[in-house]
Amino acid sequence: MDEKRALLQKIPQVDLLLRREAVREACESFGHTAVRKAVRQVLDSLRAGLLAGEVREIPSMEALEKQTVEALKKARESGLRRVINATGVALHTNLGRAPLAEKALKALEAAAGYLNLEYDLPSGERGSRGTFVEPLLCALCGSEAALVVNNNAAALLLALSTFSKGKEIVVSRGELVEIGDGFRIPDIMAESGGTLCEVGSTNKTRLSDYENAINEQTGMLLKVHTSNYRVIGFSASVQVRELAALGAKHNLPVLADLGSGAVLEASEYPFSGEPTVPQTLRDGADLVCFSGDKLLGGPQAGILLGKKELIARMKRHPLARALRIDKLSLAALEATLRLYENPKRAKEEIPVLASLSAVSESLRRQAQALCREIVESGADCGTRVVPQQRPVGGGAAPGQLLDGFAVAVCPHRCAVEQLEALLRNANPPVIARIFDGELLFDPATISESDFEAVAAALAKSLG
Ligand SMILES: *Cc1c(COP(=O)(O)O)cnc(C)c1O
Repeated sequence: MDEKRALLQKIPQVDLLLRREAVREACESFGHTAVRKAVRQVLDSLRAGLLAGEVREIPSMEALEKQTVEALKKARESGLRRVINATGVALHTNLGRAPLAEKALKALEAAAGYLNLEYDLPSGERGSRGTFVEPLLCALCGSEAALVVNNNAAALLLALSTFSKGKEIVVSRGELVEIGDGFRIPDIMAESGGTLCEVGSTNKTRLSDYENAINEQTGMLLKVHTSNYRVIGFSASVQVRELAALGAKHNLPVLADLGSGAVLEASEYPFSGEPTVPQTLRDGADLVCFSGDKLLGGPQAGILLGKKELIARMKRHPLARALRIDKLSLAALEATLRLYENPKRAKEEIPVLASLSAVSESLRRQAQALCREIVESGADCGTRVVPQQRPVGGGAAPGQLLDGFAVAVCPHRCAVEQLEALLRNANPPVIARIFDGELLFDPATISESDFEAVAAALAKSLG
């Protein structure tokens, strides 16, 4: 006990450690407040270690100094940072959904400074934020008009607030979607000031259900794409085409929330049944909305397309200003949309589309190349190339899996769960999925330039 007390008394003063050269230098880049906090933490943990009997001597000042600087560096690393997505899920919501195309990155850089955001260069007069993206979207999807806001939830909120505040919004019970992280479409609808008028049942909704619900209070007919689940078996839902005819008959706007937003024709995608934006507009929807960072493969954004007079009304709504898109996202979106002017180029240069359309044979070759890289790194594990099926993710093509190949890694001297955690904390972190006692690395979402980093992280984690 006395020995412990004697040791506790020998813990150096905060100020003493703060005066050490490396710690003083750290103040330059980390700031005094953070450095003082780090010093306190190092000394507190030393005290706790001594009290618990886990530490039996006071480390040297050099060691404490080093610990402090390392803690500061580690804290900085815990901010937002690049990770390697080895899951094969192209639209991984927790990993930032769509990675941007090279051209979008360049546009971001250019937009970081001053730019002609709302300034018409030829006339020198005030311009509009949507000048460049709106015509691109209209041409791409065959729309009369367009409006871009912060994200798709904002697009939905703006549309509902504009057309059904104090009115009823008719929607099928089969389409009351929870998007993720506890956010639900019905709650967003309630925020718009409209009243939800649910029709049909979970599995079956007919046109007559909508028709019977229409009254003087009705403000809008809404169709929500069930983006992250499917109702299969004994089920029926009403197609946009029928709903549009019903809306036209009763002079009510029909909005289709498509969520994922496939803007190419359906045949360009390696899955089926995902409603495309151009087709939904051709089917007569008055308005459609979707995200910029799902199948479109761009930055976070909410895109509204459809009838000119409806879009114009939304543009004038006060919420439009509160929900507007920022300049960086707008620049990245414009660059992404320009790639779509040539669908072939879009599929090569937009990472999400490239990942989704990668064919099995090329994925097999990439998996073999990654496998070789891992073997050559000397990582202490078993490796083999296995067939692998991957979901699209991000609320697109639910229930459908794309064929490919992955490298399956089996560590020799630790549990696979332990390896998974070590890789998550590597630099850069590698996010991989455990399946059947092996860790899978899917080249569909790993760029070839990262193969070496994946192998190095594995070798280091297993070293
Ligand atoms: C993803 C999704 C949303 C939300 O879009 P955000 O861009 O994330 O705001 C809304 N509706 C549907 C149907 C979706 O799939």
